[in-house]
Amino acid sequence: MKFSRVKGVHDIYPPEVYVYQKIEETSKEIFRVYGFKEIRLPIIEHTELFQRSIGATTDIVEKEMYTFNDRAGRSITLRPEGTAGAVRAYIENGLYNLPSPQKFYYMGPMFRYERPQAGRFRQFHQIGVEAFGIAEPRMDLEVILLLQALLKRLGFNSLIFELNSLGCPECRPRYRERLIEFFSQKIGAFCSDCQRRFEKNPLRLLDCKVPNCIKERTDAPSILQFLCEGCIKHFEKLRTYLEDTDITYTIRHDLVRGLDYYTRTIFEIKGETLGAQSAIAAGGRYDNLVEEFGGPPTPAIGFAIGMERLASLIKTELYDKGPKAYIAFLGEGAEKVSMKIAESLRARGFWVELGTGGSLKAQLRRADKLKAEYAIIIGEEELKRSVLKWKRLSDGSEGEVMEEEITKVIS
Ligand SMILES: [Zn+2]
Ligand SMILES: [Zn+2]
Repeated sequence: MKFSRVKGVHDIYPPEVYVYQKIEETSKEIFRVYGFKEIRLPIIEHTELFQRSIGATTDIVEKEMYTFNDRAGRSITLRPEGTAGAVRAYIENGLYNLPSPQKFYYMGPMFRYERPQAGRFRQFHQIGVEAFGIAEPRMDLEVILLLQALLKRLGFNSLIFELNSLGCPECRPRYRERLIEFFSQKIGAFCSDCQRRFEKNPLRLLDCKVPNCIKERTDAPSILQFLCEGCIKHFEKLRTYLEDTDITYTIRHDLVRGLDYYTRTIFEIKGETLGAQSAIAAGGRYDNLVEEFGGPPTPAIGFAIGMERLASLIKTELYDKGPKAYIAFLGEGAEKVSMKIAESLRARGFWVELGTGGSLKAQLRRADKLKAEYAIIIGEEELKRSVLKWKRLSDGSEGEVMEEEITKVIS
């Protein structure tokens, strides 16, 4: 009996997994200096949490959730994103009683039943942050700067940063009405998804990827002309903050993101893959969600990075490193000594691989294959004199050193 992966999921193993590890390590370093602390959230939540937060008429909720009844008949869903669970945890654990702002990060798998295609998986991984408690645009700037710092640290220099405002409950209804008016004049020209949604959720039509829908909506009204005074102020202030940084951004008034909970600032960062631009991180404000879920009024903002997308843009070779030393031994006495030396080097933090015995040539070939930095060679002769032979594999330089002084060579 031979088993295969469930459709749409993937295994992540060396060397590719080194890139994932690098992304995670770098993220943690950046989160620490920005004061974001880890929150570990369950993978399963009550289905209603996502229906109520992401929105019942979104793609995710309509067709992409992994939902099942547990043995007690409760409807459970594998989380399709991280924000809803973070908000639930923030309220349920009374984290709003702690000094504001409360800033969190999470990393882990998310699940969406999407059509599998290159770079898209049904179990994928996200790193996200959520900052609770600050309504002012300086927190928008902080999370955007954090995201940029992280991507820069990972070697990204040319990023495309897109920004929009989705308004608030005061101003968005007017825009919504205007949009419905616009679409109703030619709704027959749009795809069936758009036709079905346009009265309930007309903003989603701005997000439809069907080429003809994109064409038909080119002259749709912009939300930016409908913002209330508070939303305009917020947006303008963020823009002036951004002007003082080295972030170049464009305003995309048709950027809506596929989730209902966003208010005011939303953004996407794109990188280039195989000539095509694709979003590697996206986020925005959700100033009303905490209150809607029964918490005290708490403005909030967050973003999530798609790890698969990001990893595909990073060269695996950069992080596919070999051991510090490979110990080749010749003979039984040398085998014993080499195990002892390996242990003492490992205790000092070096990655050491033991040889296989047998011919020296074969062992050195293996050291090369493993991309070891040094080969340490112990034969009868070295054993007698308590010395080690060493060889740096990158340039072939070699020498001899007293056993206890080997760290002077390889450190
Ligand atoms: Zn507004
Ligand atoms: Zn459409």
